[in-house]
This record gives sequence, C-alpha cells and structure tokens, in this order.
Amino acid sequence: MSTNQPYVSFHDGRRAPQLGFGTWQIPEADAAAAIHTALEAGYRSIDTAYIYYNETGVGQGIARSGIARDELFIATKVWNNRHGHDSTKAALRESLDRLQLDYVDLYLIHWPVPMEGRYIDAWEAMIQLRDEGLAKSIGVCNFQVPQLQKLLDKTGALPVLNQIEVHPYFQQAELRAYQADHDIITEAWSPLGQGRVLENPALVAIAHKHQASTAQVILRWHLQSDRMAIPKSVTPARIQENFNLFNLHLDDEDMARIAALDDPEGRIGPDPDQFHLMKG
Ligand code: NDP
Repeated sequence: MSTNQPYVSFHDGRRAPQLGFGTWQIPEADAAAAIHTALEAGYRSIDTAYIYYNETGVGQGIARSGIARDELFIATKVWNNRHGHDSTKAALRESLDRLQLDYVDLYLIHWPVPMEGRYIDAWEAMIQLRDEGLAKSIGVCNFQVPQLQKLLDKTGALPVLNQIEVHPYFQQAELRAYQADHDIITEAWSPLGQGRVLENPALVAIAHKHQASTAQVILRWHLQSDRMAIPKSVTPARIQENFNLFNLHLDDEDMARIAALDDPEGRIGPDPDQFHLMKG
C-alpha cells in the first residue's frame, strides 16, 4: 500500500515520514496489534526505545505486516545507562535482535544525562554505528543548545534531528530556532500534550471551524511548522484519526492562535538538564 504522506529531508541526505507512530506506554503484549493498526492506517514511521520494553512486540508487528523494509522508517533509542563506546554499540545490537531487524533507520540518544558526562562517548559510538550501516541516520532526544553545540565542537557531527517535548502549551521557540539554523529537524514528542491540551477552547474552536478533531488540528499545526510528530494511541479509531489529516489546512489566524497558547512553564515531562534516571 502506498500512502500519500509528507516526508522531511535530513542533512545526511536521507528522508523520513513527517508523521510517525509513538509507542511509549504501549505494553509489549499489545505492541504488535497497535503496530498492525498503525501500518494499516498508513503510518510508515515507528518510534520505540529500549526503555519502552516493547521492542519485541514492535518487531513482531513489523515482521507480520509484510511491508517492504525500505518503505518503513524505524527508530529506537539508547538508554541512559548505556552511554559509552562499547555499551552504546552493544545496546543497538540488542535492540536489533529484539526488533528482528538488520538496521534501524534512526538511532537516538534518549537523554543527555549531562551530570554523567558520557553523551559524547555515546555520540562517537553512534557515528561508528552509522558508518557500519546499523543505523542509517543518527540523532538525539532532549538535548539543549549547549549539548548540541558540544556535539558539534567535539565531533564535528550534528544529529539529523532532536526529539523534544513540543505541544501547544510548550513550544520551545529558542531551541527550535537554534536547530533550524543548524539544519537539525525538530521532532515533537508528546505532540498532543499527552491528551491534556485537547479540551483547550481555542483549539476546540479551530477544530470546529475545520470540521476536524482537536487532535488533528494540533498534529496539523506541527506539520505546518515543519516539525516531525509521533502521536501515540492504542485506540484504533484514534490511530486512524491522527493519520487522516493531510487534506486539512490551517490558516495564518489558526496558526497565530495556537502560537499564543505557548507557556514557558508548560513542560509536562522532565527537565532534560536534571533527568538522570539510570535504572533500565
Ligand atoms: P501524546 O501527546 O502522543 O499523547 C498520547 C495520549 O493521547 C494517549 O493517552 C492517547 O490515548 C491520547 N490520544 C491520542 N490520540 C488521541 C485522539 N485523537 N483523541 C484523544 N486522545 C488521543 O503523548 P506521548 O507522551 O505518548 O508522546 C508520543 C510519543 O513520543 C511517545 O509514544 C514516544 O514514542 C515519544 N516520546 C519520547 C520521549 C523522549 O524522551 N524521547 C518522551 C515522551 C514521549 P490512547 O492511547 O488511550 O488512545
């Protein structure tokens, strides 16, 4: 099945579907079914991570789909306790075994854990994994400007993307501007604010105007802002709804109303400068 969906181009010459499927909090036992529903709906990009403990189920869903490998874009992430030359490389091999894949399209550092000071080691390992073909592209999550700049200064290599918390209540304009200047794609995690923004009256009004759902409006806002987004759902109707938005177009007034919802204190997830969970 070919799907009519937008792609973004990376600075390494590769490309990815702009809209992907998130899998955090999808239990291992439910993952294959969720992946099946997402692929049927047209998604071709899937975001998982070691720490989601569902890579085996995600891999089963992919294997059962019969979709050609080169039509899919699969991303996973190295956990905080595996930053290091050998351990980062071993972690990807273990993820590939669980996913039943020969390579991932994108390998990500999940958190910088700056107080441990090992993300440069992890990044050097990621560069080797890319050169060995086990990860087609490499990127990071939850990096702030100083950490991105350090990657550049120490290795000369920047991530193709930074996966960060972005939703209407937390828009991260400064970080996104740095990334735009450095050709780093922004990928929004918790793009729907984990569902907490769906009742916002301004968003509900925009949805009403376009006869769309609030989730569709928010996801469309991400896409029209040149971001990748990876909404998660285990509910088949929502999985389909979240992918059915390529004919929706927000106008300048809609975009401005959503921009006005930004709150510098609106973070839902942890502060990346503080987050240092090492258990995994
Ligand atoms: P999302 O913003 O995607 O929201 C998911 C929640 O919204 C779920 O409760 C889901 O419910 C609900 N939902 C989804 N679609 C709809 C809809 N159309 N209408 C109403 N409710 C809806 O949050 P996530 O935190 O899951 O973020 C998305 C993905 O980002 C993750 O799954 C993960 O892949 C990635 N991520 C990465 C992080 C990182 O550090 N790199 C951190 C956090 C997330 P239900 O499932 O019950 O349908």
